[in-house]
Amino acid sequence: MSDANLAGVIDTLTHLDADVDDATRIDRIRDLEELKAAAAAAQARETASFAASQRAAQAEAGLGAGEIGRGIASQVALARRISPAAAARYVGWATILTTELPATFRELSVGRTSEWRAMVIAKESVFLSREHRAELDSELAPQLAVLGDKRTEAEARRIGYRLDPDGFVARARNAVADRHVSLRPAPDAMARLSALLPVAEAVACYANLGSAADSTTAAGDERGRGQIMADTLVERLTGQTHAENVPLALNLVMAADTLLKTDGADSDAPVHAEGYGPIPSDLARDLIHQASADTPMWLRRLFVSPRTGELVAMDSKQRCFTPAQRRFIRLRDQWCRTPYCEAPIRQFDHVNAHRHGGPTSVDQGQGLCEACNYAKEAPGWNATVLEHDKAPNEVEITTPTGHRYRSAPPDPPGRRKPAAASTCSSSAAARHTSPRGQRGPGHGPSGSTTPRSSLRLRA
Ligand SMILES: [Zn+2]
Repeated sequence: MSDANLAGVIDTLTHLDADVDDATRIDRIRDLEELKAAAAAAQARETASFAASQRAAQAEAGLGAGEIGRGIASQVALARRISPAAAARYVGWATILTTELPATFRELSVGRTSEWRAMVIAKESVFLSREHRAELDSELAPQLAVLGDKRTEAEARRIGYRLDPDGFVARARNAVADRHVSLRPAPDAMARLSALLPVAEAVACYANLGSAADSTTAAGDERGRGQIMADTLVERLTGQTHAENVPLALNLVMAADTLLKTDGADSDAPVHAEGYGPIPSDLARDLIHQASADTPMWLRRLFVSPRTGELVAMDSKQRCFTPAQRRFIRLRDQWCRTPYCEAPIRQFDHVNAHRHGGPTSVDQGQGLCEACNYAKEAPGWNATVLEHDKAPNEVEITTPTGHRYRSAPPDPPGRRKPAAASTCSSSAAARHTSPRGQRGPGHGPSGSTTPRSSLRLRA
């Protein structure tokens, strides 16, 4: 099928005759499910071929063993509109699925199982030898048409364990290396602090908080058990006697109108809390109010115009960004600037690499996660800051295949989009420009000269 036919399929689907009976609708739902599976199989095959071809080209270009593979998943991520981390897993599973699980791949291609289930099998077989993978594939594939998500995963794991019990145990031991702590936003201005721990340690921590809560309750504390456990966790981690006294080190970015609660149009605009995301303006003002009695606060005017950024947008001959420049970029970009990545910012990147004479200025800088900064250094990648005023610091990325993608920083809190931009996608969206033609939505124009403030609270 030519690429024009592929586009034709999409067009056909968006124009299906709506005037049909319900039996036809059910037939269509099944057909579309099988089409989705077949599309997933085709996508996996293209992905595996792309990865193999890129690796071969990198080896031919003389890259060292440690450098081969760099930037490949990032290209798939941009094309699929997913994060580079998700794409890296996907490329690995797609390669296993299409090259070493032929029976499972066939079931997916004809729509008898779903992409999710096929990828679960690939994931469960990652640690098996080639022979064991082949056995798992031929044993499980004939059952796939009648297995749901949970049973597919359980069966794949059961067969894998039976084939290689020692490997299974070794994996459990290696998993300890993955222990970590993470923070995710939750609704209603809450956040979820999670720790992935070896089971014995996790149970010990939880039991310890529980018994602390029980003894506090016995002493007459009227808080709920869950509340006491949460407060005790905070107290023990921060060394404070009361959870609510935790020193607050929080960066808030807001429009001046919001900070002062004036009658201005931005007075109730959401406030960006660094590392969390938007919080309601009233909550931000509460935090500031609580803090103001005995908490030092730093108030910085970030910029009047993003182009003149009076505090920080000074050019520097130094290789490294100054602390003020880094703070500015972190507050402006909020998350890794690669489209769809959305990982926390870990590195400050000279968009035009410093060794190529790129200046050290906030206009020429962007915040990236470590993986994206690394991918960008792979051969064939290019990035430039576009010189226009519609979206300040808009960066255009060109990948080795000649595809181009754009990313602009999110709008600062309170910025009102011009009417023309109302139909455009959000700031996380990226423009996908194929070397063979233009497609995909772009960024709307967004210009503003309203001051934004960054407020840092710390006890
Ligand atoms: Zn990233």
